Amino acid sequence: MPQKFPPTETFLPDNLTLRTLQRASKACQGCPLYLGATQTVFGEGPTDARVMLVGEQPGDREDVEGHPFVGPAGKLLDEALAAAGLARKTVYITNAVKHFYFEPRGKFRLHKRPPATAVKACRPWLAAEVDVLKPRVVVLLGATAAQAILGASFRVTRDRGKVITGSIAPAVIATLHPSAVLRMPGAGEMDAAFRLLVADLKLAAR
Ligand code: SF4
Repeated sequence: MPQKFPPTETFLPDNLTLRTLQRASKACQGCPLYLGATQTVFGEGPTDARVMLVGEQPGDREDVEGHPFVGPAGKLLDEALAAAGLARKTVYITNAVKHFYFEPRGKFRLHKRPPATAVKACRPWLAAEVDVLKPRVVVLLGATAAQAILGASFRVTRDRGKVITGSIAPAVIATLHPSAVLRMPGAGEMDAAFRLLVADLKLAAR
């Protein structure tokens, strides 16, 4: 018989602040992803951040260090933020899913796209972060975050770089995930993708 997991809402604290949420998220067992990961990687950033960035899930480095976007994709994101005139220390950065989902391959752990059930199970944490922070702009990095918020039919390749209203914040913008930029097959494609990411972050900064 498949294992049952308690509703994620049961792990949320009574008093919602970013600090209480972060602390409570460490105990979450709302889906099976916590079983294989090292720790919960919750969002980080100032409590008065006007811009919130939402990625897919923590990667290998993030899982080990316990902080979002500290691996190679995080470094590229830092460069893109700087190029867009947004200091990383002024934005709040989180993920749609708070545990690392991977496939063991020898000594390595290969990133796997989190299942839709995990994205759904993890949604109360993201909703609570938005509720508490009340950002002016939410930037969705990549398809998982975009589809978690804007629906399964949303296509980042088609609809990135547009300001979307009437969602979880006054303005929502979807763009490329920094990992997708890193995966581009050649230097030219990578440069072009990086420029798109920077343009979308500039739009968020405005
Ligand atoms: S991925 Fe999200 S819902 Fe699943 S155990 Fe981790 S924090 Fe809880």
